[in-house]
Amino acid sequence: MSAARSCRLEIDAVAKSYGSVRAVDGVSLAVEPGEVMTLLGPSGCGKTTVLQSIAGFVVPDGGDVRIDGASILGVAPEKRRTAMLFQQYALFPHMSVRDNVGFGLRMAGVPKAQAARRVEEALRLVRIESLAARRPAQLSGGQRQRVALARAVVTEPRLLLLDEPLGALDQNLREEMQVELRKLQRKLGVTTVMVTHDQREAIVLSDRIAVMKDGRVEQVGTPTDIYDHPRTRYIATFTGVENLLPARCRADGAVEVGGIALPGLRAPEGHHADATVAVRSEAISLRPRGEGALPGTVTFVQVLGASVRYDVAVGDGMNVAVTEVRRDSPPFENGQPVSISPAPARCTVLAA
Ligand code: ATP
Repeated sequence: MSAARSCRLEIDAVAKSYGSVRAVDGVSLAVEPGEVMTLLGPSGCGKTTVLQSIAGFVVPDGGDVRIDGASILGVAPEKRRTAMLFQQYALFPHMSVRDNVGFGLRMAGVPKAQAARRVEEALRLVRIESLAARRPAQLSGGQRQRVALARAVVTEPRLLLLDEPLGALDQNLREEMQVELRKLQRKLGVTTVMVTHDQREAIVLSDRIAVMKDGRVEQVGTPTDIYDHPRTRYIATFTGVENLLPARCRADGAVEVGGIALPGLRAPEGHHADATVAVRSEAISLRPRGEGALPGTVTFVQVLGASVRYDVAVGDGMNVAVTEVRRDSPPFENGQPVSISPAPARCTVLAA
């Protein structure tokens, strides 16, 4: 399948209200050619409304959507050369896989021989050539998902729009398809906007993530930016940061947790006194007492197969979650005196 010429998408101050509900409240984002941008956020934050404004199924009240510099708001959805992949794939039950995939090309009047060649290519791309004659009811969930994907890419869209694309799959299949979808997107190089409420999916599949809250974008960054350096408590909590530790920023810029300055960690400009250190459990190392930054005591141990999860009591009643890869040595024990050291590069100092 020839990679469609990928486009640059600009979403410029897009707004949409439904009665008194401000579903989207001035969202601006630029998506570079070939990039995967994911809109991540909880239910009701406006992600789907933004996606549908790009597809043309929703008309925004304000703002603009541009592809390669030209507004597409006046262009009918079917003329926008975008392809949307929905969570519910809505395959035609009475048609074979091959006919489902070719449907859009037939509607667009693509000559028969050319359409047939493109359909075969798309089937090969998602590895379902051998299922071409089956009907959707004779397929597994993952196979149906591939058909929907083939149907989306066969039209060679300049923009691929994915709405919770793996939402209907069970966990194992979901993880497998995440890898496949990422490989496929790389191969096609098509500019992609995805919507999900699943932070893991966003991290695995995206080049950049826009975290949304109440109709607005709260942070835009690479997956590691968002994962390691959430800009607000809301993002930290929503993306599953386990530790939000009460802290103090000193006048000299040091950051204290439990009354002890954390080595290597500096308060950002403008942070005074009370603060919060956001740090993931796996970004903290655990050592025997005296070998790390903060003294503590293990209060809970849980072996999770590949890793071990600890609770460590630090300072005056603070509980710190620590996850370590399980190595040869036996894990620390409940009640054991330990020291913990958060990796400074993976800590974020937030306003209290
Ligand atoms: P979800 O993950 O649940 O789909 P979302 O983040 O995609 O949520 P939207 O579907 O964009 O959110 O909805 C944003 C807000 O707009 C919600 O409060 C929703 O109830 C409201 N909304 C969306 N579509 C309509 C509509 N057609 N009529 C009225 N209100 C709507």
